[in-house]
Amino acid sequence: MLALGASVVGAQEAHCSVKPSAIALGQTVRLRCDVEVGSARMDLDPSGKMGGLSSVRGVRMFKEADGVWEGLMPVAVMDAPGDRVVQFQSADGAIPESVKLTLKKTIFPTQNVTLAPSIEALHSTPDEMKTLVTFRDAVSDVKYWEEPLVAPLPGCVISPFGVARLHNGKPTGEFHGGIDQRGALGTPIHAAAAGVVKIVQPFNVLGGTVAIDHGQGLETMYLHMSKLNVAVGDHVAKGDVIGYVGATGRANGPHLHWVVYVNGVPQNPQQWVTGLKACGAGATAKAAKKKS
Ligand SMILES: [Zn+2]
Repeated sequence: MLALGASVVGAQEAHCSVKPSAIALGQTVRLRCDVEVGSARMDLDPSGKMGGLSSVRGVRMFKEADGVWEGLMPVAVMDAPGDRVVQFQSADGAIPESVKLTLKKTIFPTQNVTLAPSIEALHSTPDEMKTLVTFRDAVSDVKYWEEPLVAPLPGCVISPFGVARLHNGKPTGEFHGGIDQRGALGTPIHAAAAGVVKIVQPFNVLGGTVAIDHGQGLETMYLHMSKLNVAVGDHVAKGDVIGYVGATGRANGPHLHWVVYVNGVPQNPQQWVTGLKACGAGATAKAAKKKS
């Protein structure tokens, strides 16, 4: 045994992995095991610093076509940075493996949004909240999605994920749970991946909304649409037109706000879709300089 020194510790073979092993807040960690594993969980407060409000985030693992068990562990914007352990659990309750994961400190900027008083006053009804929570928390068995997802619009990103939001200069205590993309009124909006349509409804705050379950913990939602092009129960393919850009609900102009949920936690869509560009902050700065 040439590699005796290296192989003495942890003689047990590793079956599970987390990728990447260090990740920014608001992003998804890929879990993989080459043995049967039913679920995985992460302690959200291992240090007890959050005042004993310790809780655990659990996700299901699924056997994929290649025989490997996969799962998606979401890291929330509000999670405390630091070292965590992801514990994999087999169906019989045994814990075959624990893998270290580091949540990196992540800076999210602040952004003010100007809204007309009548628009700012819009609120969700209890029924609307119930519909949204039911959708968000559902995890279905069939995997319809494949990577990469496609951007629902070609337009640039007006407002990124995770920014702390102010409305008319007042802090809302909320962060931006999706991204806003520029789009002219009536521009077609495409499904980011294949899936089953779960919500097609006008909401007070969200406006014309379509929500799609892509399976195995991945969901997307599209807001403020002017026209909705699908019905609840429809199976859509990646790229299908599901609606059109609008300014319905709490919106200060036509744009698409869309959301990626991973096991019920809003995640940065820019991790899931490539090629999205920020709307010319550089151009604006240049124009301002010219003026002055
Ligand atoms: Zn938005």
